[in-house]
Amino acid sequence: MADHLPKDISHKVHNALRLSKDDQQRWAKILGKKGWHGWAWPKQFGGPGWNAIQRHLFEEECALAGAPRVVPFGPVMVAPVIMAFGSPEQQARHLPGIMSGEVWWSQGYSEPGSGSDLASVKCRAERVSTTSGDKYIVNGQETWTTLGQYGDWIFCLVRADTSGKPQTGISFLLIDMKSPGVTVRPIIMLDGEHEVNEVFFDNVEVPAENLVGEGSKGWTYAKYLLAHERTNIADVSKYGRTCCAGSRWTGLRLMMTAMVGPLGAGTNCCCLTAMWASRSRQRRSNYAGGSL
Ligand SMILES: Cc1cc2nc3c(=O)[nH]c(=O)nc-3n(C[C@H](O)[C@H](O)[C@H](O)COP(=O)(O)OP(=O)(O)OC[C@H]3O[C@@H](n4cnc5c(N)ncnc54)[C@H](O)[C@@H]3O)c2cc1C
Repeated sequence: MADHLPKDISHKVHNALRLSKDDQQRWAKILGKKGWHGWAWPKQFGGPGWNAIQRHLFEEECALAGAPRVVPFGPVMVAPVIMAFGSPEQQARHLPGIMSGEVWWSQGYSEPGSGSDLASVKCRAERVSTTSGDKYIVNGQETWTTLGQYGDWIFCLVRADTSGKPQTGISFLLIDMKSPGVTVRPIIMLDGEHEVNEVFFDNVEVPAENLVGEGSKGWTYAKYLLAHERTNIADVSKYGRTCCAGSRWTGLRLMMTAMVGPLGAGTNCCCLTAMWASRSRQRRSNYAGGSL
């Protein structure tokens, strides 16, 4: 890992300096060449097909080497949804660009007034038929869109149906951010940095083939994505690095806290403890055998 990671990038990570788009994408492309930008993907879609322990080891090695955390919106969030619910055409069109690190994705879930209460999203997508095929006309606003200023594509929860209960009217749409009518406006945070944005859709035309799965099941796909988002945000490898750099118990406690919050205590503590023990055993045997 360390041999392939550019030194200027690991220097920034180790010293908590801001990473540029170029830094993030250079590393994404290096991983992509080896089929590791989608390190949790199955072989069927071009990933390494690793099990949970192997994935954890990869993440830990990345953190130890000082690699940037992979920008998750493409490989960690939307890719599993496309694999599970997307059409073969969507899989063929989008997964290669995500794996290679060429295409930058953004997440369009939150709206003003629809954060925790996500099922209340109001961004409207009206389906219309034209001579050149069906399309959606999208009007509305996303907010807190992380690194949306770099986005090529954005996955959005949109309201295609206003009848019934809120959850049933939500669709999951893939939108090309270069489409006419898409505007990205920066939100400058208290530290003066530009990391999050507002994204506006003003009569944006989206081909109907960009709808993922069934129109009325967007809420199901949204929850499926969130399960991937949360395990990623727990950032176990970072806490592992804290363990190695400082007190092992402080790091372990931080790691457990991170996992227990989003996912529930029992299962994950057991799982992590097993991973921890397995990694320690492997390290001990490696040292004993003189291979490190
Ligand atoms: C740095 C950053 C980056 C982000 N990036 C993205 C992104 O890329 N894409 C995206 O879609 N979103 C993004 N988000 C949005 C994030 O997912 C939302 O902030 C989150 O869903 C919470 O919504 P909210 O901010 O509107 O808070 P609110 O929903 O208004 O909640 C405010 C407070 O009220 C509490 N609260 C809310 N409802 C209840 C309730 N029923 N009972 C008790 N307490 C309640 C919450 O816990 C919270 O403390 C980002 C947010 C941040 C801060």
